[in-house]
Amino acid sequence: MGRTSKDKRDVYYRLAKENGWRARSAFKLLQLDKEFQLFQGVTRAVDLCAAPGSWSQVLSQKIGGQGSGHVVAVDLQAMAPLPGVVQIQGDITQLSTAKEIIQHFKGCPADLVVCDGAPDVTGLHDVDEYMQAQLLLAALNIATHVLKPGGCFVAKIFRGRDVTLLYSQLRVFFSSVLCAKPRSSRNSSIEAFAVCQGYDPPEGFIPDLSKPLLDHSYDPDFNQLDGPTRIIVPFVTCGDLSSYDSDRSYPLDLEGGSKYKYTPPTQPPISPPYQEACTLKKKGQLAKEIHPQDCPISRVDTLPQ
Ligand code: SAM
Repeated sequence: MGRTSKDKRDVYYRLAKENGWRARSAFKLLQLDKEFQLFQGVTRAVDLCAAPGSWSQVLSQKIGGQGSGHVVAVDLQAMAPLPGVVQIQGDITQLSTAKEIIQHFKGCPADLVVCDGAPDVTGLHDVDEYMQAQLLLAALNIATHVLKPGGCFVAKIFRGRDVTLLYSQLRVFFSSVLCAKPRSSRNSSIEAFAVCQGYDPPEGFIPDLSKPLLDHSYDPDFNQLDGPTRIIVPFVTCGDLSSYDSDRSYPLDLEGGSKYKYTPPTQPPISPPYQEACTLKKKGQLAKEIHPQDCPISRVDTLPQ
């Protein structure tokens, strides 16, 4: 796909570059905020699974604009620096990373924890959903250590068949849990966001990193919830319905917009996994070796003598 055709196919990708966001995901957080006023009164926030950093950009602009805000961003991948954002490179499912994050909030808890984390998708739905759930629970575990009472937690979920189990776990800690689908999140994707407001852990709950909430014995059949334990949370779509549809292709010259001009990505990836392949390709060294036995028989060979 050429540079321009990607801009045409994915309007949010293109608008992100034009507006200086590092990723199209920025619009998801902005649309969630518009619906739920997530940033109201927030001065301290944690951005889990933050690279390449568009959510951190939004956070630092919305809460760090006066210089009083404090954002801690965490990801497995290296991330280019952002003003007002403290970065930690690490795995949020690891105890050492969780401890490092918590250290930043000693005595001064966070108002907001967000997590846009996504595992490398395998295409096997059950596996992907399971990995996503584990990431969310790791994020929730960290949130229980750093959130102030009444604080807010927003995390990406996959609306798969076991999602009600996650809702139930979230409802244990928050007075309000709902599922939101921003307009900029493709309809064709099972992705949505759990918006959990009013952090209110059960009486006597003591956050304990040595007993993470991760359920390593997770069994999709055993874990099904029924009857009174089944929780159905409200589903809300957010973002103006007249705004761009993330599943549609748009002409490059948008109606009422300025004339199309190609914009390079705001922040190219620092060391993406495909870097080696790109370097080899540039040097013309990526070509597959051709063995004589794999060559098609030439017409000359097959012509009758
Ligand atoms: N919100 C980001 C933004 O706006 O730029 C985009 C996040 S991207 C969709 C998902 C990120 O999750 C990836 O950068 C990936 O490295 C990170 N991730 C996945 N598993 C993780 C883990 N166990 N610990 C930390 N980060 C993780």
